[in-house]
Amino acid sequence: ACDETVYDESNVMSERHMERRGIMIVLSSPSGAGKTTLTRGLLADNPDIAMSVSATTRSPRPGEVDGIDYFFINKDRFSEMRDADQFLEHARVFDNYYGTPSEPVFGALEQGRDVLFDIDWQGAQQLTEAASDDLIKIFILPPTLRELEKRLRSRAQDSDETIAKRMSKSEAEISHWAEYDYVIVNENVEAAQAKLQTIINAERLKRKRQPWTSRFVKDLIDGA
Ligand code: 5GP
Repeated sequence: ACDETVYDESNVMSERHMERRGIMIVLSSPSGAGKTTLTRGLLADNPDIAMSVSATTRSPRPGEVDGIDYFFINKDRFSEMRDADQFLEHARVFDNYYGTPSEPVFGALEQGRDVLFDIDWQGAQQLTEAASDDLIKIFILPPTLRELEKRLRSRAQDSDETIAKRMSKSEAEISHWAEYDYVIVNENVEAAQAKLQTIINAERLKRKRQPWTSRFVKDLIDGA
């Protein structure tokens, strides 16, 4: 145990991946609060985090890619998957259906990878019932509702009617903020990004999420 190479970084990392179950990180927010930008930033800075790609019955927006942003499927296929129990959670949001395919999530978690979910409060509630031990829930708030509307409009991908609908649903989504473990007010994207990373770093450092440390400490003491 005096051999320092036993605990060099690569050994520790591979042990970490063998023994540790991944964390499920849920990010919810009203549309336009900047969640997509934060999600992209988080994935770019943490290539080890897997993104859960949802299935949806809504049509792709310009620039959205099937299999990357969503699996775009029709209502029949959605019902089929739901009836075959292939969703970890699913919900109706606005006029469309959304669901999280379970298999990729279980696969990533078993490899010890953390998984990020961009889902609404209904999905967050369902995951809480299913797996609260490995779940952290983060809510992103806009600085003001006016700013939220401005961001929805500048996206310019939705019709006025859709924007009005989304605005009216925003307050309903926000009313669920107290069901989350963490809250970030996204006034400035860099600051919000840093806060998000802080949460994840701290969660990863929790003793229960570093099971390999019990052996490490045993060797540490034996070697002393
Ligand atoms: P959008 O249509 O703007 O991409 O997403 C609308 C809302 O649906 C967002 O709040 C998003 O987080 C949520 N959503 C996306 N995928 C899922 C999912 O698989 N399950 C649930 N419950 N909500 C989702």
